[in-house]
Amino acid sequence: LAKERGRGQLATFDRSHGDTSGRRLDLMQALHAALAGDVLELHFQPIVSLRTGEVTGAEALLRWRRDGVLVGPGEFLHVAESMGLTLPIGRWVLRAACAQAARWRRAGATGRVFVNVSPAHLALGLEDDVRALLEEFGLPGSALGVEITETTLMQDPETSISCLHTLRDLGVSAEIDDFGTGYSSLAYLKELEPQSLKIDRTFVAGVHRDERDRRIVQAIISLARSLGVSSTAEGIESPEQLATLRELGCDAAQGYLLRRPAPPEGSWPTVTAGLLDG
Ligand code: C2E
Ligand code: MG
Ligand code: MG
Ligand code: MG
Repeated sequence: LAKERGRGQLATFDRSHGDTSGRRLDLMQALHAALAGDVLELHFQPIVSLRTGEVTGAEALLRWRRDGVLVGPGEFLHVAESMGLTLPIGRWVLRAACAQAARWRRAGATGRVFVNVSPAHLALGLEDDVRALLEEFGLPGSALGVEITETTLMQDPETSISCLHTLRDLGVSAEIDDFGTGYSSLAYLKELEPQSLKIDRTFVAGVHRDERDRRIVQAIISLARSLGVSSTAEGIESPEQLATLRELGCDAAQGYLLRRPAPPEGSWPTVTAGLLDG
């Protein structure tokens, strides 16, 4: 059955029985085994510059291959967190992302691989792990980026500011993920000095047809611009959304329309041809 699904397609579990303790225990045991074994994987989704059409980044998205079925992070990261496994998983992800970045660099790629970062990792030495891995894999900081949600950043703003500044000194860029859905303060935004704001897909969904979404997206893009930060839109599914975002001056784009997340190939990911012409 799993084989019938397209490459990279996620399974959805029947949640009608909720997180029963039996199911939870099952998940916990399997997750422990997953970390030890070879069943976690990263899929990658390209991020394309709307100015040049170039694929400037690829976001690493965690997947768990369980009995041949691909499970997405929404299904297990909350359980991992309750087990204290967030940090080991985060470290595994960072290492696997650096290993892939190094492979792509050797094949001539120059873009960044972006990694999603958890609150635990941010609080417990993300910048030290990044520094060590860049060195281990012989990567320049420009090969790597991190995505951190507003909510994560605001849990401990002082730590976040110092971490982001250290990363910037290493040449690693920081993107504020799901921007517009958390509560971030403009005062901290100024101090954080991220390289990019990633506009949450809940706003992108209606940007071409809902005046309010359009205005919010427009406001985020102009806020980004006045801070000297770039803007990326996530979750683009239709040509109409893409056209509106280009018109609003958004810098970069990501979404199923351009390419679905997929296992890495030998060369740097590409987007569907023709979409960015004209
Ligand atoms: P995110 O960082 O906002 O990632 C974007 C999510 O949107 C991904 O879901 C991606 O597959 C999905 N997506 C991309 N394009 C489209 C589109 O056009 N339409 C729709 N409807 N969805 C799209 P995914 O892979 O299930 O990940 C969900 C969340 O889990 C991520 O949201 C991120 O917060 C978290 N996550 C993923 N990988 C990791 C990881 O390695 N570490 C941590 N800490 N969190 C992760
Ligand atoms: Mg992300
Ligand atoms: Mg996001
Ligand atoms: Mg999001």
